[in-house]
Amino acid sequence: MSPRASAIFTLASVTIIGGFVAYAVYFDYKRRNDVSFRKQLKKDKKRVNKQAAQQEESTAIPFTTEELRAALAKVRDEELPETPEAKEQYFMGHVGMGEQLCAQGPLFQLSAALSFYRALRVYPSPVELIMIYQKTVPENVFKVCLPLKTLETLSDTATDSHRTDQLGREYHFVVHRRGFPQGLGLLRRLHRRSGTGSPILEVNLRLCKTRYLPLCGDCSSYPKHPIILAYPLPYFWVGICPVSGYYDVFPRKSMNVSVQPAPGDATKLRKVVVAERDFSEGEVIYKELPLVAALDADLEGKGTHCSQCLRQIEGDNAVRPESDRLNSVYCSPECQTKAKVQWQNLLFGLDSVLPEDLDNGMSRLTRQQRDEAQTKFTAWLKEQDKSLPLLTARFVARQVALETAKVLPHQSGALADELAEATIAGDEYSLYDHMERLRFVDGNVSEEETKMLCDVLGAALPGLDKSLTDERHATYNGKLAYNAIGVVLGEGRDDRPTADRPEDETRTRTPHGTSRQVGSGYYPVSSYIVHSCAPSARPSFSAGNFELSLIAAQPLKKGDEITIAWVDASQHADETAEGARRRRRIELARGWRFKCECSRCLEEATDGNESDMGIEKDESRVEDVVHRVETGTSGEAYLRSAPTNVD
Ligand SMILES: [Zn+2]
Ligand SMILES: [Zn+2]
Repeated sequence: MSPRASAIFTLASVTIIGGFVAYAVYFDYKRRNDVSFRKQLKKDKKRVNKQAAQQEESTAIPFTTEELRAALAKVRDEELPETPEAKEQYFMGHVGMGEQLCAQGPLFQLSAALSFYRALRVYPSPVELIMIYQKTVPENVFKVCLPLKTLETLSDTATDSHRTDQLGREYHFVVHRRGFPQGLGLLRRLHRRSGTGSPILEVNLRLCKTRYLPLCGDCSSYPKHPIILAYPLPYFWVGICPVSGYYDVFPRKSMNVSVQPAPGDATKLRKVVVAERDFSEGEVIYKELPLVAALDADLEGKGTHCSQCLRQIEGDNAVRPESDRLNSVYCSPECQTKAKVQWQNLLFGLDSVLPEDLDNGMSRLTRQQRDEAQTKFTAWLKEQDKSLPLLTARFVARQVALETAKVLPHQSGALADELAEATIAGDEYSLYDHMERLRFVDGNVSEEETKMLCDVLGAALPGLDKSLTDERHATYNGKLAYNAIGVVLGEGRDDRPTADRPEDETRTRTPHGTSRQVGSGYYPVSSYIVHSCAPSARPSFSAGNFELSLIAAQPLKKGDEITIAWVDASQHADETAEGARRRRRIELARGWRFKCECSRCLEEATDGNESDMGIEKDESRVEDVVHRVETGTSGEAYLRSAPTNVD
C-alpha cells in the first residue's frame, strides 16, 4: 500500500471508530429523549414492517434470497481470526476493501456488501456497526449488507426456516447493546393476528436473565419496563436494556447504603439514600471517589493543588507537565496518568487517543487542527472564571474516553483500570444509564461552547464531534451543577473570591459553605443524598483529597434515611435563628430551586405563609424517559404501541 493510500485508509478506519463511539454515546440519548427521533423510529419500523409483510424480498435488492444465501454460506465457511490483533486487522482490511469496491460500481455491489459483512462478523457490537454503516456506506450496498446480517441471524436461530414470516415460531435473537454482556438473549414469538385484514407482527420477549424474568412470552402482562425498541432495520428488532432494575445493582453492596423511593412520594421519582446497616455516631458509612472533579477556577493552573485529586501540593513534589494548556499541576505521577487517560489528553493534549498501532500516523495529520481547537477552547475556559464548564467538559471527555476504551481491541494498563473504575453499577449499565437518572435543573450552555468542545473532540478523533448536541451539553451542565459536591479540605479556605452579585455565586453541596471549598466533584452515590437542615450525616475529606467519606452525624439504624446539609446550616454568631433559617433557605432556592421542608425548617417556621425566592415547590426534575419508566406507565404502553401500530 502506498503511503498516501495508507493514510486515507487509516483516516477511514479511525473515522469509523470515532463515529462508532460518537454514535454509541449519542444514540442512547436520542432514543430515550427525543420525541421526534422516537417517532421517526416508529415510522421507519412501520414502513419496514409493511414492506416485510407485503413481500418476501425487497425488490430494491437485485439479488434473490438464494443468491444471498449462497454468498453468505461461502463467507461463513471462512475462518475467523482469533486474537484481538488479528480481528482488528481483519476488520480494518475488510472495511477498507468494502469502500474500494463501492467505488467500482454496481457490478461490485455484492462483493462490497460481503466485505462489510465480513467486518461485521468480528466487530464487538455488530448492531451498532450496522447503524454506522447505515450512515457511511452507499445505500445500494447497505441494502445488500443488511439482509446478509438478517439471514445470518435467522439461520443461526431458526432450524428450519429463514423467514421472519414463519409466524408463530419462536426465534432466538441475540441482543447486542453497548455495555450488555454478550449473549443475553431474547425469545421472540411472531404470530399473525387474524381478523384485521392485514398482517401484524406481535412480539413477545423474554430476557434470559433472572433479574428480568417477569416478562413471559406466554403471559398476557408485560413488564413494567420497556425492553424493546423497534429498530429501523428490516426484519430486525433489537431489545434494549431495561431501564428498571438499576437500583438493584447500584449502589454496590459494599457502600452500605441503598437508593430507595422517597417515603410518601406517590410519583416514586424522588429517591433517598437509606442505611443498609446500623452505624454509630462518627462512623464512616462509605468512602466514594468522584467520577469527575475540578478545582475552583481561581486555583486551576495556580500550582497549589492537584488538578486531578485536588490535594494541596506540598514542597516541590508537584508534577508539572510542560505542555499543559491550563498549567495543570499534579500531586503525583499517578494523578497525572489518570488525568491523561480520563480527560487531559482528549481536551488539552496532542497524543493520539488511539493506541499507536491503530493510530498509524493519524494523530500527526490532525495535530495542527487539534492544537487550534484546543487553544481556542482553553482561552475561552480561562475567561469564564467558573469551574463548571471545565467540569462538564471533563465529564464529556471521560465518557468518550470510556466508550473509546470499550471498542479498542487492547484494553490493558491504564485503560483497563479506567474501565473498571468507572463501572459504578453492574456491567450491563453504562455511565449514560447512570447519568440519565440524575435530577437536575436546566443547565446553561451557549452554542459557541458546544461548538468549541465538539471541535476539540472531533479533531482528536474524527467523528467524535457528533457525540454532543447543544441540548445534551446543557443537560450535562445542569446535572453536574445540581449534583456537584464541594470539596473542603481541613477547615476549608477563606480566600475564595466571591461573585459581585449573590445570584451569580456558584453553589455546590457542602455543609461548610461553598466559599470554603477548593473545588467540586460529582459523586455518583452521594448525589442521591437529599438535603436536610438537620442532617443525619456529613461529608468529610479527611484523606486530604477528593475522596469523600460519609460520616454518620448521629446513630443510624438500618433503614434510616441518610441526609446531609447542602448548605451551611449552622447559625452564625451574628445571626438570629430566623436569620439563619432565611439564609439557608435562600441559598437552597437559588442553588437548587426548591423550598426546604425539612423537620427543622418546619419547626422553626414563624409564619406559615412564606415563599422562598418565589419558589413554591421543588423545580428540579428528571428526564422524560426516567419519568416514563419509573412511574410504570411506559413499559406496557411503549411495548404495545411499537409493533401493533402496523396497519
Ligand atoms: Zn493528585
Ligand atoms: Zn430546611
